[in-house]
Amino acid sequence: MNEYSFADAHCHLDSCSGVLLPHVLMITSGTSHETNLKNLHISQQNDNVYLCAGISPQEAMKHKQIKIVIQEWEETISTQIKDSGRLVAIGEIGLDYHWAKTDEERYLQQECFISQLQLAERLALPVVIHSRDAEEQCLDILKNFNLNYMMHCFSGKSETAAAAVAHKGIISIPPMRNSERKKFIASLPLEKLVAESDAPGIGKTPEATLESIKMIAEIKALPEEQVRKQTLLNTVSFFGIK
Ligand SMILES: [Zn+2]
Repeated sequence: MNEYSFADAHCHLDSCSGVLLPHVLMITSGTSHETNLKNLHISQQNDNVYLCAGISPQEAMKHKQIKIVIQEWEETISTQIKDSGRLVAIGEIGLDYHWAKTDEERYLQQECFISQLQLAERLALPVVIHSRDAEEQCLDILKNFNLNYMMHCFSGKSETAAAAVAHKGIISIPPMRNSERKKFIASLPLEKLVAESDAPGIGKTPEATLESIKMIAEIKALPEEQVRKQTLLNTVSFFGIK
């Protein structure tokens, strides 16, 4: 653990270009069957990269036969991907009502989300949640499961962040500033926060996680070094990395 200088709790290395930093702990995440397999390969090639595999809500809403395809995809996760020894969480999964506007699209997302929460229970793994304009709905569903969860790139209200943390959740901070984020970073304990780049979507590369760490340090008036170490510890313990 001491070999890492910081942890990026959420990125997509299958779409990042450039050389991977050897001293950074990274959790790379799939969003579809294809990207789960690509990220699996990357995690097998790099000792400092672990895998989070799942079907995102944006992907789920494209498949009208979601109940059938999710079975095949989950079969791959619970056999080939699980057996690799690199899988540390199911994700990113959740609800995205920014993109899903119709009842049918939202239904497809919900079916996929619930199915993968059941998968996570069977595999005894934590989950990484993508929620957009549906943070409260995600929490309502999560309350029916006995799962630890990370709210990735959390962009909801401070009250919802506090409710997640009071349950079994932790909050992941991307390198993006806004006033609501500032509010919950200030009020939540550092032990409930991790830092992410969400590269290449928000940060360009996993190094952008250092901006998230800097932001947390500034808002909490703590040394960056302390935030770097504590968010690394939090990431290691959440994902159960040995
Ligand atoms: Zn992501």
